[in-house]
Amino acid sequence: MKKVTLDLDKCVACGMCVKVCPDVFEADMSTLKVALKGGTKNGKIWTAEIEASDCLDKAADMCMMNAIFVEE
Ligand code: SF4
Repeated sequence: MKKVTLDLDKCVACGMCVKVCPDVFEADMSTLKVALKGGTKNGKIWTAEIEASDCLDKAADMCMMNAIFVEE
């Protein structure tokens, strides 16, 4: 399992993470940004424990705002 953190203050809603890894990220109409599926939102920070997947790391690498953090 990996711990994923998503910072909505940094996210500019480009949609890249949803396109690259839809199993983990989804569009969130309540914030007009993105959400972590199965995650918990505390203020502007989403966190989730997620099964390791190639697309998760790829999405974190591709996020131009560095809004996605993945820890082992
Ligand atoms: S790739 Fe980054 S900036 Fe784009 S929607 Fe996802 S978290 Fe936000």
